[in-house]
Amino acid sequence: MSDFVMTIAGEAVPTEETFGVRNPATGEVFAEAPECTRQQLDAAFDAAAKAARDWKADEAARRASLLRAADVLMASTADLAPVLTAEQGKPLSDAGVEVFASAIWCQYFANLDMPVQIIQDDDTAHVELARRPLGVVAAITPWNFPLTLAFWKIAPALLAGNTLVLKPSPYTPLTTLKVGELLKDVFPPGVVNIVSGGDDLGAWMTTHPVPRKISFTGSVETGKKVALSAAPDLKRVTLELGGNDPAIVLDDADPAAVATAIFAGAFNNNGQVCSAIKRVYVPEALYDDVVEGLAAHARAIKVGEGTDEGVKLGPINNEPQYERVKELVADALSHGATAVTGGHAMDRPGYFFEPTILTGLSDGTRIVDEEQFGPALPVVPYRDLGDAIDRANATHFGLSGSVWGADTDRAAEVAAQLECGTAWVNTHLALSPQQPFGGFKWSGIGVENGPWGLAEFSEFQVVHRSKAADGLNVNTAMLLS
Ligand code: NAD
Repeated sequence: MSDFVMTIAGEAVPTEETFGVRNPATGEVFAEAPECTRQQLDAAFDAAAKAARDWKADEAARRASLLRAADVLMASTADLAPVLTAEQGKPLSDAGVEVFASAIWCQYFANLDMPVQIIQDDDTAHVELARRPLGVVAAITPWNFPLTLAFWKIAPALLAGNTLVLKPSPYTPLTTLKVGELLKDVFPPGVVNIVSGGDDLGAWMTTHPVPRKISFTGSVETGKKVALSAAPDLKRVTLELGGNDPAIVLDDADPAAVATAIFAGAFNNNGQVCSAIKRVYVPEALYDDVVEGLAAHARAIKVGEGTDEGVKLGPINNEPQYERVKELVADALSHGATAVTGGHAMDRPGYFFEPTILTGLSDGTRIVDEEQFGPALPVVPYRDLGDAIDRANATHFGLSGSVWGADTDRAAEVAAQLECGTAWVNTHLALSPQQPFGGFKWSGIGVENGPWGLAEFSEFQVVHRSKAADGLNVNTAMLLS
């Protein structure tokens, strides 16, 4: 038995089977999470389907519930943040920010307008364009921001009038399960169901006949599997997938200032952010100064257990990811790269890796071409700006990118040439609930956030009221003549 329970049909649901959740700061299992059975998943989807009819009928109640959810989250920060730090590894203050951001997302969507557009209103017809909910949503989240990314789905899906079954990553199920319990009485039974289990549970969800929509955040590899399993049933999908964000420094940039901001954009959440800076292109003339600025930050930053005072970077979240970062850095070093700082796993329990700045490498090296998703940053020199832009775009990824320079108009012109969903100028990771976020190419399909993200949890419906006595409006009559 586990201290953590699933939430299905408004009930706290334990399971016979459980799986261990590790604290990445120690590598030890510290809690057990419920292993959802197929029958329990059926019950969750059944509850969501039953709850959908009443839920979609009362927009005011939906908005009020989302605001209450925000209050509950804010009031529970002191309880939730330590659980998040224990399972994810991030510093306690960052865990608190994640809970806060989840509440902000609820508030934003609770207040977001859902206007019906009038397309035509004349003597022949009154035509409206409305959005209708899809029904039940299957939501699947990764381990880097388990809570915030859950609310990127929960808040808009619910406002649009859907109900939902959500599954967190098996590496970080606990905070989400706790939130399911906390919100049990905020939403009517069956509106929000939280289940937990391994990757198989995700696959069962995407092939289940009840959900009409899959909202998935995770890796490209799994995203492709999700797309395949959605196809036979033509389920709607939103896929928020991996990235390999380039930062291009222009020749008029201030190296020290840029190094500070780029370090923050690359090492936030210990590099485990889909849209973190994952490779930096720097003009040869500024190269040494930018590298030294980045290295100074990497040397100074405090790495440790998320509960320790002053810690800014925690461990990598899980063993496979830790092994992957070690492998990519070792591969770079074996191909002639230099670790100006770091380069190795830390000699202590848990999945700690030294903040690493890599030089002496270029495109064609795995850590430049692939998503490292950890605390290691390759810095690549360039001579010709057009060539740097081409190299930045020469990838299957297209999540986001940034351009850095004193002449912001010129930087914006370069940013516009990046093939990605968000192109920042002199900043990175500037995300907000009103800004649509999504990827070009393999980084995803569709967007989350803002009215555009809300729209993805609905279908268009045209409501056409004819004013013609014979039921034929002018356009139809023309077609028939
Ligand atoms: P992952 O793809 O391994 O797992 C994500 C989720 O999918 C987990 O809940 C997992 O259990 C589930 N899953 C695994 N196999 C499945 C299957 N066959 N069918 C359905 N669900 C399945 O990703 P991860 O390692 O948890 O997360 C890291 C990745 O997520 C990185 O690539 C990162 O860039 C990406 N990410 C993207 C965004 C974004 O918004 N674009 C945000 C955060 C993370």
